[in-house]
Amino acid sequence: MWFVCDEPECLKPIKEGHFRFDCQQCDNFTFCDKCYRKNTTHTHKFSKTKVPQGQGPPENHDELITKAFMRCTECKVSLIDVTKRVYTCSDKKCSPDQTKGEATYWCKGCKESTEHEHKRERVRGSAGFPFELQTMDKDKMTSE
Ligand SMILES: [Zn+2]
Ligand SMILES: [Zn+2]
Ligand SMILES: [Zn+2]
Ligand SMILES: [Zn+2]
Repeated sequence: MWFVCDEPECLKPIKEGHFRFDCQQCDNFTFCDKCYRKNTTHTHKFSKTKVPQGQGPPENHDELITKAFMRCTECKVSLIDVTKRVYTCSDKKCSPDQTKGEATYWCKGCKESTEHEHKRERVRGSAGFPFELQTMDKDKMTSE
């Protein structure tokens, strides 16, 4: 397993030997060292643990994080927050398989400020996401 910072503007993998901060109240909420230090809004207690050797991020971590957090292709912000408007392109070239998260997403701001060769549409779904995340526990993803 390996760890990712849950701060939506960060979403960086936490490397071996670095500290991670797990919220003691929220299920699966982790900050990296930097975000923990500048955090002023998440007021729960955190526990500090060092990421052991062998639990660093896998090589394709960028790809895995993009899928798990549904990041905007432009600004890289996480779009998993269901209050955000998410847009996607349904062209096969941009979104080979939306059910597996293999898709291109934009936040509202980037959709409006960028041009795209295909038509983009707003993502609709029960919880706001087009694909199931249950196979990918975003905080403790396995590298296989
Ligand atoms: Zn919390
Ligand atoms: Zn962070
Ligand atoms: Zn964006
Ligand atoms: Zn497209």
